[in-house]
Amino acid sequence: PDPTLRPAPLPEDEPGRALRPQALSEFVGQAEARANLAVFIESARRRGEAMDHTLFHGPPGLGKTTLAQIMARELGVNFKMTSGPVLARAGDLAAILTNLEARDVLFIDEIHRMNPAVEEVLYPAMEDFELDLMIGEGPAARTVRIELQPFTLVGATTRLGLLTTPLRDRFGIPTRLQFYTVDELDQIVRRGARLMGYEADPDGTREIARRARGTPRIAGRLLRRVADFALVEGDGRISRAVADNALTRLGVDDLGLDGADRRYLGLIAENYGGGPVGVETISAALSESRDAIEEVIEPYLLQQGLIARTPRGRMLASKGWRHLGLDAPNAPAQ
Ligand code: ADP
Repeated sequence: PDPTLRPAPLPEDEPGRALRPQALSEFVGQAEARANLAVFIESARRRGEAMDHTLFHGPPGLGKTTLAQIMARELGVNFKMTSGPVLARAGDLAAILTNLEARDVLFIDEIHRMNPAVEEVLYPAMEDFELDLMIGEGPAARTVRIELQPFTLVGATTRLGLLTTPLRDRFGIPTRLQFYTVDELDQIVRRGARLMGYEADPDGTREIARRARGTPRIAGRLLRRVADFALVEGDGRISRAVADNALTRLGVDDLGLDGADRRYLGLIAENYGGGPVGVETISAALSESRDAIEEVIEPYLLQQGLIARTPRGRMLASKGWRHLGLDAPNAPAQ
């Protein structure tokens, strides 16, 4: 097998693979994206053409990979998967592209982390289904043009802003994924519990959903941990009490924030008087990469209104102070 095709799903997804929705109709949430995709998929099927290139952007764990797989299944084509960072050389991508069959879906995760030399191969491939390959080196070098089968590129990124403009412009269907509501996550958790063979009380699944940070991947992970506690320390039933106890022991607080989130909020409150403070400073103080802060920690805190982003840096919002149980120092009106 081609080593540049990503070998395995994330380990945390592994036990839950059966939980992955297989059809658009089973996919909960993202109503707007789902409705639009249904139309574009049906239209491509009727025309017998490759669907237009699609870009999913949004925080990790919201279903970008899952939607790409569903697209391939509903289009009735093969699904090939790779990621930006593993495509080291232009030849790696060329090898994948030349092996695609007509109308296949090629999924490139973390597409913002592609090497520029590889990205250039992608432009004519996306636009005209052609590859310009350089053969040989030095004065004997020449380019050959290779025709590709028409295919659908599905790109996923957590950072739309890091995509180059030429790449972004080549996606006909840019789609932003949103955090899920508690009701949507509750449906996902209920379905997961059923597929795992657990009895679950409505308050039990709701507690997990409420504390899942708006993210199906986290909901799945919390469900599996709560199920462990239910099995070993409870009567095997996912109740609210078991869920609350398990989540508290895992360090997931009432709003669903974990230790990293609380360290972030605590740092701004205690060391910087609530801000503004720059992301580089926060990154150094927490020993977390700037990417992790901007891609994983901040989007949910912003969505929850716990922090605000200003031109001078991040600030704790009044809800953030309250969540920490602290008083805002002479708080300005927010
Ligand atoms: P991303 O590619 O955005 O990081 P994934 O597609 O890998 O996210 O989804 C992460 C996990 O969450 C997977 O286990 C997937 O099954 C689950 N998941 C994502 N979206 C949904 C959904 N709408 N309904 C049920 N499960 C979902």
